[in-house]
Amino acid sequence: MSSDNAPLLRPRIVVLGSLNMDLLLRVPRAPDAGETLIGHNFATVPGGKGGNQAVSCARQGADVALLGRLGADAYGNSLRAALAADGIDLAGVQTDAEQPTGLALVMVDDAAQNRIVVIPGANATLRVEPATLTAALAGAAFFVTQLEAPLGQVIDAIEAAHAASCPVLLNPSPMAALPDTLWPRLDTLVLNEVEASELTGRPLRDPAGAAAAALELRRRGVQRVVVTLGSQGAVASDVQGSRFHPALPVRAVDTTAAGDTFTGALAVALAQGQPLDQAVRRGIRAAAWCVARVGAQPSIPTAQDLESLPE
Ligand code: ADP
Repeated sequence: MSSDNAPLLRPRIVVLGSLNMDLLLRVPRAPDAGETLIGHNFATVPGGKGGNQAVSCARQGADVALLGRLGADAYGNSLRAALAADGIDLAGVQTDAEQPTGLALVMVDDAAQNRIVVIPGANATLRVEPATLTAALAGAAFFVTQLEAPLGQVIDAIEAAHAASCPVLLNPSPMAALPDTLWPRLDTLVLNEVEASELTGRPLRDPAGAAAAALELRRRGVQRVVVTLGSQGAVASDVQGSRFHPALPVRAVDTTAAGDTFTGALAVALAQGQPLDQAVRRGIRAAAWCVARVGAQPSIPTAQDLESLPE
């Protein structure tokens, strides 16, 4: 291994996004309206799409700088400590003196189905100065973001990354109306079947439908599109066409953060210069590890963890 390829092997990735403390309730099933149900157990677990994707990038071997906002409270402090333990650069994580740290109530039932309510708190007041953004993006191999942070800020940051010639990966979740000017700014769009269906107005259930939706999104100006199909796998689409990659067969216990884990692993592979299909397979393997374990950030694998999984 020569020192010439060291920057490729350990790329710098900037993530802008939401940071939440997940209040994780394991329940036999979801309660009906008016019903009281006895659950199995409870845990507080670091989460939020921005935090999860940053952790996935860091555990897959990237140097990660995170831009986000926490409250001045106990959850904020423990999120900060957890993210720092993953070696993530938190210089761009602000503290809001008034709003509480973002919170998500995550209910996971015995069938591994989750139901999530997010209270954005401090995430809703995230505002990064243009000079701070530009400084953070210097030397970055990828800029990764989602839509749990304020939309105007996400769009400004995508424009800044584009201006800095830094490839942009957008995971448009949770879905929001996006301006048409955004598509040509995107190097890579990673979205699940529900989001792809909403964006294109096409019903979408299988790899063929995902490929058609991906083609339509590429025609809007996105370079590469990846549509994830839950337990089926994912479709990769670029100028060479579309390819389906099956998921790994695992016993899913909690799919929370599967998409974020996939996105982070894919981003690192792309930032390391790997072809799209290889990056998608890395995402699939990382997400398989995640769904076989409970919780958001505790279930995100390291690059070493993936060595024990089949190709
Ligand atoms: P999101 O979490 O964003 O809704 P998906 O549900 O499509 O995204 O999952 C993302 C990826 O996680 C899938 O492409 C797949 O590789 C993996 N995955 C999800 N569910 C399972 C499962 N039950 N078994 C194996 N892999 C899964």
